[in-house]
Amino acid sequence: MSSVSWIVTTTPQVSGLVGMAKDAGLPVEAVVVGERATAEAVAASGVDTVRWVELGDSTPAEAASTLVADLAESEQPRLVLGGTSSEVKALLGAVAARTGAELLPAVASVEAEDAGLRITRALFGGIAESNEVWSSPVVALADAGSAVQPSGEAAQITAVEGETLPITVVERAVAPQEHVDLGAAKRIVAVGRGVKAREDLALAQELADALGAEVACSRPLAEGVDWFAKDRYVGVSGAHVAPELYIALGISGQLQHMSGMKGAHTVVAVNTDKDAPVFTQSDFGVVGDLYQVVPALTAALKG
Ligand SMILES: Cc1cc2nc3c(=O)[nH]c(=O)nc-3n(C[C@H](O)[C@H](O)[C@H](O)COP(=O)(O)OP(=O)(O)OC[C@H]3O[C@@H](n4cnc5c(N)ncnc54)[C@H](O)[C@@H]3O)c2cc1C
Repeated sequence: MSSVSWIVTTTPQVSGLVGMAKDAGLPVEAVVVGERATAEAVAASGVDTVRWVELGDSTPAEAASTLVADLAESEQPRLVLGGTSSEVKALLGAVAARTGAELLPAVASVEAEDAGLRITRALFGGIAESNEVWSSPVVALADAGSAVQPSGEAAQITAVEGETLPITVVERAVAPQEHVDLGAAKRIVAVGRGVKAREDLALAQELADALGAEVACSRPLAEGVDWFAKDRYVGVSGAHVAPELYIALGISGQLQHMSGMKGAHTVVAVNTDKDAPVFTQSDFGVVGDLYQVVPALTAALKG
């Protein structure tokens, strides 16, 4: 293991990473994957050296993963830092797998100590924090920060020679998304995994229509099965809402969900499990099957 830190990046936005690497008290070497202009911007960001992996126009950064992993294997950096873009995650994942280093997400700070690097990071979406000293190599995902105003002499740039993986981008398509501002909603009908099939979401939509409410969901419905766009889920890592009325249908009430809707004025829960945690934070609870309760509620509201 060498006594250097690496910053792996595909963009010039590295202020957070450079600051963190300096706090670790190690020389800072940047590995830039992408355009020469990016390598030049990073070279002027306060790093000591820059290695540059050039990519063709239609080659994605992920194609450089084995090349960057080879380099890490031969140089064994003590600390590897990168941002949270999917491209950088792919590169850092390859480095961690090849070098056997621990891959740590959500790193907030790194400090040098005699016993190793003290690393603080957020756990469970930010509701807890871990503080550990690592004596073995670490690959850390952190907030990359912004671009750095050039100052002082720029670091030397050395091109990395080698084959990238044969991957070509043939088309880029942006998925159409309707955006919703759940934070502004006065009434919300939120659904969870108690809903068994996508087509059953119509039940919640009908109730929401009758109430003039927005439909929202728990995270598994937006990130597990993709029934909703990500801006529809409520919770610690999703939308934070404070409606007058929040109706939770088939949502168990885990802390990560409830912390996103604790500003709700009146909470109504429908759940088949009388011991579901959601009931402890509800004003009104119905122990029952949402497939029976929701149509009855909708009919009552329409009537
Ligand atoms: C770091 C981290 C961050 C997270 N952030 C979030 C976040 O921001 N938001 C979020 O929502 N989650 C988040 N989670 C996930 C969270 O921990 C829970 O796993 C998730 O909220 C559970 O979703 P759920 O309540 O829909 O599903 P489940 O926990 O599976 O609950 C489903 C509920 O439906 C009930 N049910 C089943 N059938 C019926 C029926 N027919 N009628 C009525 N009720 C029924 C069951 O009794 C059960 O209580 C996070 C997790 C981690 C680790």
